[in-house]
Amino acid sequence: MTLPVADTWFTATKIDADTTLILEPHIHVLEQANMFLVEGTERDMILDTGMGVIPFKPYLNSLRSDPDKEIICVSSHTHIDHIGAVHEFDTRLVHPAEADEMATPSGLTSLFRRDMPEALLQTFLDAGYPPIGETLIEALPYAGYDPESYRLQGAPATGLLEHGDTVDLGNHVYDVLHLPGHSPGGIGLFERETGVLFAADAIYDGPLIYEGPGMSVAAYRKTFDLLKELPVTLVHGGHDPSFDRARMLEIIAHYEALWDAA
Ligand SMILES: [Zn+2]
Ligand SMILES: [Zn+2]
Repeated sequence: MTLPVADTWFTATKIDADTTLILEPHIHVLEQANMFLVEGTERDMILDTGMGVIPFKPYLNSLRSDPDKEIICVSSHTHIDHIGAVHEFDTRLVHPAEADEMATPSGLTSLFRRDMPEALLQTFLDAGYPPIGETLIEALPYAGYDPESYRLQGAPATGLLEHGDTVDLGNHVYDVLHLPGHSPGGIGLFERETGVLFAADAIYDGPLIYEGPGMSVAAYRKTFDLLKELPVTLVHGGHDPSFDRARMLEIIAHYEALWDAA
């Protein structure tokens, strides 16, 4: 296998005064998750930490206006593309339903297609994702990097986030929403003051995944019922570009119709 060497492993885009979107552009689109840095007056937050192919925190700190400020790491759920670098943070929060999985990952922990169950690969194809090559990385982070050396590490939670809890950054306060369906302990963060929702993989503007280990269409339907009632203005999903409430309702209606017809 010969892969090119990437110029830069991470990219960052400021999406508002306090929020930065971070991506790993050389990961296959299926596992290329959005990571969001929110810089608060009291503390910063990183929501999700990508694949963990190379150390993340040095890059993250280079983006922060005060790298010495406290930072909390929130894992929206525990799929490989969301908890890769969780072990690099001192404060690690997750929903109780996925705390064990974060401590000891039991799902996909390798970069290789051969380690992914056939049924799961089929689910991704059915959902509309392009096929995966030999590995989930499409470039090497540096010359000589050995993709075989990769293992998803995980880390025990230092605290738990349940529905109704709040994450307080000072000038940004988020309500924790339990949004199962894609995963048992999936959470979103909703800022009532602005209507901004970090929805993670509960809803994004791309093929949603609802058939697989820990997934449930029945739970997903309830999650969508909750989202429809929420005074959302802007959704930052776990993948793909952000969207407004009208688009959110369109996406929900699309999947509800799909499930009704099944
Ligand atoms: Zn994801
Ligand atoms: Zn996921």
